[in-house]
Amino acid sequence: MAREQDYLSKCFSQYYAKWQPPISSVESREFGFGNWQTKIAFRHLSFPNASALCARLLRDAPPYVSYSAAYYEFPDARPMPSKNWKGADLIFDLDAPMHSCGKFTCQQCFDAIKNETIKLIEDFLVPDFGLSKKEMIVNFSGSRGYHVHVRSESVRGLRREERKEIIEYINASSVSVKALLHDDSAFISHEGRRVKVPKFYGPLSTDGGWRGKVARRFVQLLKEKRLQELGIGRKKAQELYERQAEAERTLCTRVKRMDGSACADWTKLGLEKGYGKMFEALVENTKVAISTDTDSNVTFDTSKLLRLPDSIHGGSGFAARLANDAGHTLFGAATPALEKFEPHVHAPVFSDEALKVKIVEPVPSLPLRDGGMSQAHAKEEILEVPQYLGIYLMCKGAALLA
Ligand SMILES: [Zn+2]
Repeated sequence: MAREQDYLSKCFSQYYAKWQPPISSVESREFGFGNWQTKIAFRHLSFPNASALCARLLRDAPPYVSYSAAYYEFPDARPMPSKNWKGADLIFDLDAPMHSCGKFTCQQCFDAIKNETIKLIEDFLVPDFGLSKKEMIVNFSGSRGYHVHVRSESVRGLRREERKEIIEYINASSVSVKALLHDDSAFISHEGRRVKVPKFYGPLSTDGGWRGKVARRFVQLLKEKRLQELGIGRKKAQELYERQAEAERTLCTRVKRMDGSACADWTKLGLEKGYGKMFEALVENTKVAISTDTDSNVTFDTSKLLRLPDSIHGGSGFAARLANDAGHTLFGAATPALEKFEPHVHAPVFSDEALKVKIVEPVPSLPLRDGGMSQAHAKEEILEVPQYLGIYLMCKGAALLA
């Protein structure tokens, strides 16, 4: 791979020749560079300003460039405490779960993780934490996901435990179905027999926090005719679509339980026994799946380094491109809004010129930058591909220069 690595380094260096880092306070950040073996081989690096960083990237063209969400007085000092932590951006790292597409991430995986990222911003960060989209940047990770960086002063001083609590709120680890749904079903005597009268009280769509969130999610799935995602049978779902307005009204009409608390009478939806299971599915559907795994968590472990936005990811040759519409450009090309961001279209940054490569492992049909699909290729094939695709295949270890 030595020849390929030289070629890739040359391409990456050309990329960095005209490049500007889209981050603030370069002088207060710690940087880490990777090599072809390890994503972070060197850390505790610091640069006095953006041009010093650019000059170094132009010279070394590392396959991976990471930086700290944290701001330090002495970013190159070690051990960590002597850096003197001054605060950190609030970061969320969303990665597509493993799927049969493996290393050639498919459109379906990219779409799913983009929707999770939009949900994190629109359903949690903006309404529940009062953050504005102007305070955030979002970038494609260069691999299988997205990073959301909240940069406002209001989050910089948050400590580890507070950051962890935010994640636990968003991924529903502090939410219990028991607290949301009350089974007040009772037995009554009817013509000499004991008859069960089901009564399920649950959140109002006007409630705050997680209560209102799940009720509103139900209404959204109802409007989008997606109730089957909650395990509701097709016939029952159809029936609810036909009386959508009535169901919506039910969930915003206050009724009082025996204890005096205000709820919505979910019994009126007529789901009979399935409420517990349906609410479990509803919570799953509402939450954003962010892991609280301590080993890899960039949200609460602010000493972790993460991909520098707009830098090249050596595992794909893609740019970890910014994906929000803050007026940012990359070499004059406007940054697409997250909703419109397509990794296969917007993240390849190299040319369309023909590059001759030899395929060394089977390659599936892949989405191309122009919106088309490439052909699948068998091992040993030698062919000409656009340079950006050739670079992607070499970074994936699936092709060599021919
Ligand atoms: Zn996939």
